[in-house]
Amino acid sequence: MFRSGSNSSEGNPHLLKKKKKTPGNRLDIGWKVGIDFNGNARKVKSNYCSKMVSGRILRFKHHIAKIREDFMPCASVSEKIKKLMLKIVA
Ligand SMILES: [Zn+2]
Repeated sequence: MFRSGSNSSEGNPHLLKKKKKTPGNRLDIGWKVGIDFNGNARKVKSNYCSKMVSGRILRFKHHIAKIREDFMPCASVSEKIKKLMLKIVA
C-alpha cells in the first residue's frame, strides 16, 4: 500500500504491486491511495479517510485531489498527495 512517509514511489506505477487479480487498470495511481472495495472497480475506499466513493476511479481521484467542491473531498489526505493527484487529474 501507499506509504505517506515516503515519496520514492510516487508517480511510478511500475512500483505498484497487487496481490489479487482484479479487473480494470490496476496501474492507475488511484489504486495507490484507494482500495477496490467490491473487486469490480465500482466502489473505491479511501486509504486516508475511509470514505467510500462510488463510481469510476476517476471520481475517486477527484475525491483525493479535492477537485470538485460539490463532491465530498478527502478529509485526511496529505497536501503532498493531494497536489500529486491534482496534477494527474487536472
Ligand atoms: Zn479520502
